[in-house]
Amino acid sequence: MIKETDPKKMYEAMKAQLANVVPDFELKLKAELAAEINRLKAEKNAVILGHNYMEPALFNTVPDFVGDSLELARRAAATDKEIIVFCGVRFMAETAKILNPGKKVLLPSEKAGCSLAASITADDVRELKRQFPGVPVVSYVNTYADVKAESDICCTSGNAVAVVNSLKTDRVIFIPDEYLAKNVAKETGKKIIFPTSDPRKKVETELDYQMVGWLGRCEVHDKFTVEDIRNVRKQFPDVVILAHPECSPEVIGAADYSGSTTAMIRYVEKTSAPRYLLLTECAMGDNIAVANPDKEMLRLCSVRCPHMNEITLEDTLEALRKEQFVIDIPEDILERAAQSVERMIAIG
Ligand code: SF4
Repeated sequence: MIKETDPKKMYEAMKAQLANVVPDFELKLKAELAAEINRLKAEKNAVILGHNYMEPALFNTVPDFVGDSLELARRAAATDKEIIVFCGVRFMAETAKILNPGKKVLLPSEKAGCSLAASITADDVRELKRQFPGVPVVSYVNTYADVKAESDICCTSGNAVAVVNSLKTDRVIFIPDEYLAKNVAKETGKKIIFPTSDPRKKVETELDYQMVGWLGRCEVHDKFTVEDIRNVRKQFPDVVILAHPECSPEVIGAADYSGSTTAMIRYVEKTSAPRYLLLTECAMGDNIAVANPDKEMLRLCSVRCPHMNEITLEDTLEALRKEQFVIDIPEDILERAAQSVERMIAIG
């Protein structure tokens, strides 16, 4: 990370590191913002957490820690700073609040939501539990706090299989990502059913199944197709293709490797393929390219998450100046959600 608080030094450092991925006119403007954020962050005793999907000029300058949602949740739990600014989306900032409720947690944009998190409500989960009594609920961390509060345990894309196996039950409800659920079912050899996206409709519960899924999707990973992979391989036969587990099972099957954002970063660091293509939010490809200048990353990606895209250096500066937008979670929801998240963290 570039820790400068002087705009000129910040610009020079950003130019040295980011010239290949950020145009110069943007670097000048963004260097001033980043330097001021770093100054104010120290003055306000704040820590900034940056998700792997943040755009390169933000990702490489103002966060004290970067990573996936699980790594950042751990950082949030451990911090002794007064303010946590979460450069990510709402469900991530909520998880930071759940794990460190005494801190002021700020999300720079109120619009930073998530199509997956929005696909299911706490009421939906209560209906599922009524239909499948006694079946434990695993919720992906990409859910809001009230959904986590209705769940037995959370999981990430990196530990979903371990979490499902840890339950040692015949059946499990796995929400809300349809594709992640199918990918986990495939890996654990479980038969999955998707009763309906409306749990109030009558479903056949006598079916033979071990997993109950939900029809939520990530609007970004849903866009990648097997046809995309075929076209890229035709043009670049030696490319190694990495896909996030929120992609469809068909896309995962056609890719060379599948893993969480952290697993993909480690894969590129530890291997030496002629070139790589990431099937995930495209800012991450830029961030990996910056960290691995000796590796060739194909830049065929134009899929930006509209929610992650809401988090800018301008908004991050405003968040620190005005101490906005504060994440607030009712006490009873926070306590129950904390149990689900802590159970997951105990698994790793
Ligand atoms: S990339 Fe997908 S899962 Fe992640 S925040 Fe955006 S919509 Fe949600």
